[in-house]
Amino acid sequence: MDDLFLQPLLRTLEGEFNAMIERTPEFPTLTIIQHPLVQHKLTIMRNRETPTKIFKELVDEIAMLMAYEATIDLSLESMSVSTPLEATSGWHISGKKLTLVPILRAGLGMVEGILRLVPAARVGHIGLYRDHDTLQPVDYYFKVPGDAAERDFFILDPMLATGGSAAAAVSSLKRAGATRIRFLCVVAAPEGVKRLSTEHRDVQIYCAALDRELNAQGYILPGLGDAGDRLFGTR
Ligand code: URA
Repeated sequence: MDDLFLQPLLRTLEGEFNAMIERTPEFPTLTIIQHPLVQHKLTIMRNRETPTKIFKELVDEIAMLMAYEATIDLSLESMSVSTPLEATSGWHISGKKLTLVPILRAGLGMVEGILRLVPAARVGHIGLYRDHDTLQPVDYYFKVPGDAAERDFFILDPMLATGGSAAAAVSSLKRAGATRIRFLCVVAAPEGVKRLSTEHRDVQIYCAALDRELNAQGYILPGLGDAGDRLFGTR
């Protein structure tokens, strides 16, 4: 196909694609995924009337859609393949192996959706809870694959609130040898993005929405409430 035909088409596609993600000058490491399906599903999640079963399905689906975006720069290697008709060339994912690390417990809700896209990914776990008085993260569990330096990590937590747990999770992974870490959440607060990006400038953050602020109890406003409670019906 000649360039005269391809260039306008590529420019149109690029425009369409960029409309689905947003970057803010204030937070250069943050990508907000604006895809209509993500925004539609997020709004149903925010609704206080949405039951646990639907909430859980929506977290799963949004996580999968977000992972599609967050894996856009995975490296490819060419390979040959034989179709039923002839030999041709194609591609396979190469480079570092992917590891998902949900922060317990709400992050668990994001694992299955991403595994559907990347079934070969390994799953580590980080157990951190937020002390309700100090709002500081308390670490109680850490298990990731041994070859951390060889892996791409996706830390998963639906809510990036104060950023305390997120920053602590990244620090724990770095202590284990990880060098390539991304953070995927559904809703982020400006306070959390600021803290995580200040403490870890090398970590790309992906979210479906950057909300207004935190309240005095550390909940995101307007937010969607306690993601763990809404996922596991412990409200
Ligand atoms: N964790 C949640 O589950 N919700 C918030 O709004 C903040 C932190």
